[in-house]
Amino acid sequence: MIGEEGRSVMEKYDTMIVGGGIAGLQAAIQLGRYEHRVLVIDAGYGRSTLCKSYHNLLGWPDGVSGEELRRLGRLQAEGVGVIFVKDEVVQAVNKGKPGDGFEMWGKSGKGYEARTLLLATGLLDRIPDLPKLKDCLGLTVYVCPDCDGYEIRDKQTIVMGSGDVGAGMALTLRMRTDKLTYVNHQQRAVKSELLSELKGKGITYIAEDIQEVIAEANGLFRGVVLANGKRIDAERGFIAFGGNEVKSDLARQLGAERMENRHILTDPRSKMTSVPFVWAAGDVGVHAEQVTIAMGEGAQAAIWINKVLLMLKEETKIHRVVIRS
Ligand SMILES: Cc1cc2nc3c(=O)[nH]c(=O)nc-3n(C[C@H](O)[C@H](O)[C@H](O)COP(=O)(O)OP(=O)(O)OC[C@H]3O[C@@H](n4cnc5c(N)ncnc54)[C@H](O)[C@@H]3O)c2cc1C
Repeated sequence: MIGEEGRSVMEKYDTMIVGGGIAGLQAAIQLGRYEHRVLVIDAGYGRSTLCKSYHNLLGWPDGVSGEELRRLGRLQAEGVGVIFVKDEVVQAVNKGKPGDGFEMWGKSGKGYEARTLLLATGLLDRIPDLPKLKDCLGLTVYVCPDCDGYEIRDKQTIVMGSGDVGAGMALTLRMRTDKLTYVNHQQRAVKSELLSELKGKGITYIAEDIQEVIAEANGLFRGVVLANGKRIDAERGFIAFGGNEVKSDLARQLGAERMENRHILTDPRSKMTSVPFVWAAGDVGVHAEQVTIAMGEGAQAAIWINKVLLMLKEETKIHRVVIRS
């Protein structure tokens, strides 16, 4: 925690977006186009920095990487006046009653202030540190059956996972391919019903650590080598290790309501959280975990942030008139 002494915020924005991934960028573009003063604070990691190719997006039939989408999004947002800073926000302060604003404090020691706040901080997948695995993400190894089940149809596929979560993923993918192996990397317990279901559906089950991921330089997954030295060849992979980290601690600090799994609850219409003038969009909110949905929620939150900002600006005008007269 940064000490309270001697801290001062330089400048006050209309809105502050914590998280410059997909949801944050879409919201920033929309809010910039309303000509509000918008600040995006981003730490520079996140799911959209990991995916080497999204295949299910309108307009990108050959795929587009998260890095490229982020680069384009930032350019577009900067074009409408949005300001970006690289920092990781570690402390969130509600300055009082709705309209008084919020202060965000970064790891850098800098403070940022705005009248409204959007949390678009996403989540982080738990991915074991296996060299070469990250090079394949989105290209030949996937995380989301709704996004990429299509990519493994009839292909030799390994689910690299852990416990029941990995077993559940293998069972979900069974309709896409019958050449499926589930490697339970940390040998966490798998319920006996799931083990029988795996067997019944012809899914090979191996409880053994993965020692190495085999992949070519262009992110082409070739299989794994197990701790016992056995090599399993495959064309595609999925990961499902469970224990993902929902990045909602700032919401907790502000007292916003969260679900048991730490996703932030929002009003379905406005995406506002239970704390007035704090919104949430994208993977940090209730669970859809797709690019297009993160974009949609970012835009939806921005529309409502704009309504509130207009109201606040109108109130300020009225207030000034009353004081002057
Ligand atoms: C390997 C992989 C493949 C995927 N494939 C697909 C696919 O094919 N199709 C699809 O639709 N979706 C896919 N997804 C999911 C998709 O990437 C996410 O749904 C999307 O990125 C969500 O956007 P977001 O803005 O909520 O989060 P993110 O894109 O993760 O952005 C969150 C941002 O918040 C920032 N941040 C977090 N905490 C802080 C803080 N305290 N201070 C400052 N900044 C902070 C991070 O740095 C990050 O930039 C995939 C995900 C992964 C990991």
